[in-house]
Amino acid sequence: MVVGGSLLSGYTNPKLFHVFPEIDFFINGEGEIPLSELIQHLSAPQNIATFPNITGVVSKQRPMQSRDKVFCQVDSLKNIPSPDYDDYFNLLYTFRPENRFFPTLPVETSRGCWWHRQTDIKKHKGCAFCNLNLQWEGYRTKNLNQIVSEIDHLTTKHKTLSVAFMDNVIPVKGSDKVFQQLGMLKKDFHLFGEIRAATPRHLLENMRVAGMDEVQIGIEALSTALLKKLNKGTTAIQNLEMMKTVKNLAL
Ligand code: SF4
Repeated sequence: MVVGGSLLSGYTNPKLFHVFPEIDFFINGEGEIPLSELIQHLSAPQNIATFPNITGVVSKQRPMQSRDKVFCQVDSLKNIPSPDYDDYFNLLYTFRPENRFFPTLPVETSRGCWWHRQTDIKKHKGCAFCNLNLQWEGYRTKNLNQIVSEIDHLTTKHKTLSVAFMDNVIPVKGSDKVFQQLGMLKKDFHLFGEIRAATPRHLLENMRVAGMDEVQIGIEALSTALLKKLNKGTTAIQNLEMMKTVKNLAL
């Protein structure tokens, strides 16, 4: 059994293997490269009983040696293929009608957080309390056509219009065009995404036209002094204005 995900990133105590003896390997950080190398390794019958030395793959026999981040990530998101959700949907279709639900498609336009990157030179990287970026380094984005065609393709293929953006925070740069083009698809999307309180109104309007009807905003506090300590890069009045704006736009 191979497990992974953001909860197992950064430093994971080797005792995990004792607590859950069913686990053979875990992937530290994102999985595209280490998981494919692990599958290749295990595909050769003579390798089944051996433990590969693959960056980002941790096993009982090769536990994490230190608290240093050891992972292997793709350089760019621009060449990774669209996610394959076939197994998930095939399983869903086996459910009895009374147990079915409307699924939501997870999509991503970026990995990392642009605010985290932007505040690199200050005392804190990003918001002072945030530990969301242990599983990768840097900040990477997909390009406009890739994002729009991926959402169009997945929603058509799986006959669902509910889409959740998995980004730490939806990028501001380039997103006007993304949401304008999603709006031009004339699909009755139900979109969800996480945004910063400083998101400009023109972008919020484009999101709404595209079908964004649920957002999660990092408000955190209504005290500018506290927000400064948190390194949020926002003020109390911006937070209040944002709450009012999203209410008016029915976001
Ligand atoms: S904006 Fe969100 S993801 Fe980025 S540093 Fe702040 S809390 Fe973390």
